[in-house]
Amino acid sequence: MRRLHAPLAWVGGRWQRDVLLTVDATGHWAGVSPGQPAPADAEALAGPVLPGLVDAHSHAFQRAFVGLAETRAAGQDDFWSWRDRMYALALRISPQQLRAVAGQLYAELLRGGYTQVCEFHYLHHPARGERFGDELDMAWALAGAAQDVGLGLTLLPVVYTRSGFGAAGLRPDQHRFAADADWAWRACQRIRAAGLPRVTAGVALHSLRGASPDDIARLHRLVGDTDLPVHIHVAEQTAEVADCLAATGQRPLQWLAASGRLDPRWQLVHATHAQHDEIEAVARSGAGLVLCPGTEANLGDGLADLPGWLRHGVPLAVGSDSQVTRGWVEELRWLEYGQRLALRQRNVAAAPGVQPSSAARLFDAAVRGGARAAGFAAWGLVPGARADALVLDRQADGLRGLPDEALLDAVVFGSHGAPWQSVWVAGRALPRRAPQRVGEAFEQAMRELWTPGLSPG
Ligand code: ZN
Repeated sequence: MRRLHAPLAWVGGRWQRDVLLTVDATGHWAGVSPGQPAPADAEALAGPVLPGLVDAHSHAFQRAFVGLAETRAAGQDDFWSWRDRMYALALRISPQQLRAVAGQLYAELLRGGYTQVCEFHYLHHPARGERFGDELDMAWALAGAAQDVGLGLTLLPVVYTRSGFGAAGLRPDQHRFAADADWAWRACQRIRAAGLPRVTAGVALHSLRGASPDDIARLHRLVGDTDLPVHIHVAEQTAEVADCLAATGQRPLQWLAASGRLDPRWQLVHATHAQHDEIEAVARSGAGLVLCPGTEANLGDGLADLPGWLRHGVPLAVGSDSQVTRGWVEELRWLEYGQRLALRQRNVAAAPGVQPSSAARLFDAAVRGGARAAGFAAWGLVPGARADALVLDRQADGLRGLPDEALLDAVVFGSHGAPWQSVWVAGRALPRRAPQRVGEAFEQAMRELWTPGLSPG
């Protein structure tokens, strides 16, 4: 047993003093006890301690596209024109390049305060749709990248069988993604059976346009009564809502709720375009919501009904998705600021009388919702959870001189975004910088991917 002592730690949704944290031999918290003087054998943590967060939605390969889609030469730019340009990258990245790109991303996610990432993985095959020697070469590349830098990983092999509502199959430029429910389920089982440290798996459906009702029914049967998370992109775009209405007579969230399959294992990614009755139906099902405010802003998706989701108590997590933002502070800030701008109000996420701090309400929601998204029964500074933590630097810009009670508010709304001096995973402080070879491999992959003549757009 290893014992750590923090002057201040975020336990039970508030700052508590003199917290003794005990780590067991497997790297999980054996005990979390506020109000304890430091025992002689305890290691003193130099600052206030927050739990690490789960990045609940990531497509690692898109890290290679960050900063390369921010121009508009003519006409109108939107999600669909972005997607066409993004496919140019998706269609040529190799397993080696994916490992290099994901390594850089995962190091950045750790610096951004995430200690686990849910990888919504649909780049399964070589570009022309043939098969790798090991069908999971791309998945192993992601797992290797996570191991290289010490980030926890929940791999979600994605079912992707058709190009749109009513389509019989995928487009030629989508054959890399081809996976039916049985394929994704086998992939999930193999990843779990591999027993890699801090790597687990669930499953995902690309979207209602990318998977048919039969695919969804089949995956539902395969998942059975296991406790594995099931992720799906839903209602991100108004065009998707219109197509779903035309094909089924129902909006995407209406259709999913009416299917009777939603339950607390389901994680609805984006759900940007949701009506009140849909939010109520999702709340009744127990399913969770994954918002990616940085990406949703970058892609011009629209604004989620945050007050509606919070009012109905729907579990909420955040994700980095397209990787334009790679830290939870920025996601929570965007989440609240989007609402302030739209509603011309302040502290929209706060719940007066229950939790008056917007930052605290969003942070606690993200701790709980992220755990479910990643498939963990316990997460945060609680016994049984993996011993992950962020040790704040009280001298950091934005935190210096503040009273204890305001620290989390200042982290979210007043800091540069990552005001911690160390990041801990499984009871160990990670090195402050990722190995140099991680950055070098990323630069090499970027040179290969973006040689002249293969520019984006
Ligand atoms: Zn996504």
